[in-house]
Amino acid sequence: MARITLRQLLDHAAENGYGVPAFNINNMEQALAIMEAADAVDAPVIIQASRGARQYANDVVLKHLIDAVAEMYPHIPVCMHQDHGNNEATCATAIQFGFTSVMMDGSLQADGKTPADYDYNVKVTRNVVDMAHWVGASVEGELGVLGSLETGMGEKEDGHGFEGKLGHDQLLTDPDQAVEFVKATEVDALAIAMGTSHGAYKFTRKPDGAVLAMNVIEEIHQRLPNTHLVMHGSSSVPQELQDIINQYGGQMPQTWGVPVEEIQRGIKHGVRKINIDTDNRMAMTGAIRKVFAENPGEFDPRKYLKPAMEAMRAVCRQRLEEFGTAGQASKIKPLPMSAMAKRYAAGELSPKIGITRVAAE
Ligand SMILES: [Zn+2]
Repeated sequence: MARITLRQLLDHAAENGYGVPAFNINNMEQALAIMEAADAVDAPVIIQASRGARQYANDVVLKHLIDAVAEMYPHIPVCMHQDHGNNEATCATAIQFGFTSVMMDGSLQADGKTPADYDYNVKVTRNVVDMAHWVGASVEGELGVLGSLETGMGEKEDGHGFEGKLGHDQLLTDPDQAVEFVKATEVDALAIAMGTSHGAYKFTRKPDGAVLAMNVIEEIHQRLPNTHLVMHGSSSVPQELQDIINQYGGQMPQTWGVPVEEIQRGIKHGVRKINIDTDNRMAMTGAIRKVFAENPGEFDPRKYLKPAMEAMRAVCRQRLEEFGTAGQASKIKPLPMSAMAKRYAAGELSPKIGITRVAAE
């Protein structure tokens, strides 16, 4: 079965100049929708589960769910990733349940809401890197705290995210510190803060450089050309999905997400993993609302979950095509985690630092 590590997948993406959307799941319908989309366009996938998702679905259910979809689609490389691990134990137990990759989010303390200092972040992330690399699993770290540059506020999602107001120095990752962080922790991928936030309410207008700091990505990529960058909170919150929800009885205030063209610009500058959850939630909710509004007598869950899956599948497929992930699955030969462990032990995968590349164009 084609389970793949994040590191191997993102190395392939970097070599071939594409990005990979990471879709969140907490149930069967979402897992099936992602896999159907990937299968339709020959794309590898990153499926991720937050701590909240693991609690909701149960670790044992999630483990067998991922085993099931990997068995159904043996030709699709599947990376199973822990989203926003809050401490070493969360990351260790994820690997125990078959995840091939973990995020250690040491930008916040273990409570998942209090901003942590740099030294704590380095220490806890390094602990997870040591443990994960021994068994060949990959690690994503985070430097800088996710939140809106418009308001200074974070958006808590699944119980994770800071509460209160932060300054620009914390909401924007410092490029020099990013170099130090990667050197000290040897993470495989780095999530950076540049104005994106979780949830649907990211921007009060179409974002420009003042609230979506794409220049931070470009600066970090120049200094760390071999580190895979991760954009969190990168749903585009399409107008048509807002409209469907509101047309059928929803009450979502007007909002703006991260435009796909900005993500595509990021992919040209080292962004390899793009986290998307809200768009899929909205697609499913819009489809369900439509069934309920048009057929108020309906009570068979399949009658609304099937359209919900179809709506999510369409969003996933679109992103796989927009980010260049489509067509890549058949070009990848996934290595088992044991082989990745040997590559880490041999020093083959250590970060390459100090090579300052001339900026592309
Ligand atoms: Zn996130």
